[in-house]
Amino acid sequence: MPNDQLTNETVELLQQLIRNECVNEGTETSGHEDRNARLLRDELDGLGVDIEMIEPAPGRTSMIARYEGTDPSAPTLCLMGHTDVVPVSPDGWTRDPFGGELITAADGTPEVWGRGAVDMLNLTSSMLVAFREIVRTGRRYPGDIIYFAVADEEAGGVLGARHIVDHHWDAVGCDYVLTEYGGTPTFTDEGTFVLLTNGEKQAAFRHLEIAGQPGHGSMPYGADNALIKAATIVHRLSQRERAPRLDEAFRDRVRALGFDAELERKLLDPAHLEDALAELPPGTARNLHSCCHMSFSPNVMHSGEKDNTVPDHADLYIDIRMLPGETQEDADQHLREVIGEDLWPSVTMHRKFDDEPKAPALSSTDTPLWSALDDAIQMAYPGARVVPSFVTGGTDARFFRAKGVPAYGCGLLSNKVSFAEFQSRFHGNDERIDIESLALTTQLWLDVCDRLWR
Ligand SMILES: [Zn+2]
Repeated sequence: MPNDQLTNETVELLQQLIRNECVNEGTETSGHEDRNARLLRDELDGLGVDIEMIEPAPGRTSMIARYEGTDPSAPTLCLMGHTDVVPVSPDGWTRDPFGGELITAADGTPEVWGRGAVDMLNLTSSMLVAFREIVRTGRRYPGDIIYFAVADEEAGGVLGARHIVDHHWDAVGCDYVLTEYGGTPTFTDEGTFVLLTNGEKQAAFRHLEIAGQPGHGSMPYGADNALIKAATIVHRLSQRERAPRLDEAFRDRVRALGFDAELERKLLDPAHLEDALAELPPGTARNLHSCCHMSFSPNVMHSGEKDNTVPDHADLYIDIRMLPGETQEDADQHLREVIGEDLWPSVTMHRKFDDEPKAPALSSTDTPLWSALDDAIQMAYPGARVVPSFVTGGTDARFFRAKGVPAYGCGLLSNKVSFAEFQSRFHGNDERIDIESLALTTQLWLDVCDRLWR
């Protein structure tokens, strides 16, 4: 049973983390995670745990605390939460995105509002509170527990997890990682399903340079305009998807979301998938679409210098995410087919972020940690079936998977937040989390620790 005192601690800490406004704009001088790193360090003050602060660039501080176990040969568990958040569009919010306000919703549900409330300061705060509770009460487990409050997740971890895994493995090296995200329950006629994550789609970002011929803008007839070619490529990409992959994992995920039988049948039939997605709430539809497709999203295009000159060069940047098991070559092949033999000779293609350590897309669920998670979730939702799934975006878990460490995304939500609602709050407007979910999540970490080393 969640403990009210601990829940209050999580709520207050979450509010402070939100108010610290550690907004990561993708630039080295943004983020300012030192504010949250110091706050979290101070929360552990006087408890006698080892604390290390790592600052790869000014202000980009991560904090690592270690509580030693009784048996140096027992596996180490790392609770990893990022401390940065993505920027907001303030006009889209009905409350101050950095107010960290506690608001009671119309149905009486108390919620903490603010950027980071679900991604992932809710987890970062609850992990700290659980970690501190273990230390404070003198509970001893065989293995070490590491609390890792990491900077720069939202810009690829270059100044956070990636740097620290590469250069400070002695500080964060472990046997298991828990991080974002998962733990949405769905209540169906067949019982309760809880989705956790054991992997993520892999990135295959591409930069296309598209060549043309310069000319006078007053005489566009027959011009070899690089911008028009780029726009044509964007259009073709929007019209031609790769075929969906409706495999066992996808079927499990669809079943775990508890749709009616007719809709479920259509979602699992390639001929009706598109119609079925159109019937779903947007957050669910987007997520399910990405869970059965290699996705291609052309997001940035630059071309031209002067408004009276036909451009001879365009740059197009495409965000591509592969399903587990798909390869960089699969991505290239689809691009080439869609771009077409007429335009392909004008294109020079570059892979982006190709220097990242190669991580397996999925962690095995055949581990003591997954069993401990499953058992811990039964405490809150007796009889629930825990379903592994993958995240459509990237998380810091991949740096640990690349080291062979199983990493899972979890948390535990109340029945107040539907899967669709949860999805739409990520990086969205009016991000918020209900107190009951914070209570369940704080308790989850404690229950997992109680079960992992049994
Ligand atoms: Zn996140």
